[in-house]
Amino acid sequence: MANTCNGCGLCCKLFLINLNREEYQSGKFKTMFEQFGHIDDFKLARESGVNFLAKKENGECIYLDGQDCSIHADRPAVCRDFFCTSKAEKFKTMVKIIKEADKEKNSSVLQIKA
Ligand code: SF4
Repeated sequence: MANTCNGCGLCCKLFLINLNREEYQSGKFKTMFEQFGHIDDFKLARESGVNFLAKKENGECIYLDGQDCSIHADRPAVCRDFFCTSKAEKFKTMVKIIKEADKEKNSSVLQIKA
């Protein structure tokens, strides 16, 4: 199966998004802890977690608008790379988490309808 996105937005709600060096250094993304300032040393920035995209209070990505990415054309590399239909070993755990969350979401819907 080809990698496709069904636009459910679950990955944008569940995961922390790591910016790569170039993305973090560009300063064009809202990041966690940015109120404490920018760290020039990327290794230190990554160890400190300041290269994560900011999240809303409800835990979803700051750029998620409903179920759409508001910066889709300029989204970070990791967002371009990941698909929940991916068979890549490096995404195995994430795919599993998405499937479980999706199952829970569907069972909640069923419980509401019952
Ligand atoms: S930047 Fe866009 S694609 Fe990436 S997690 Fe946020 S909303 Fe989702």
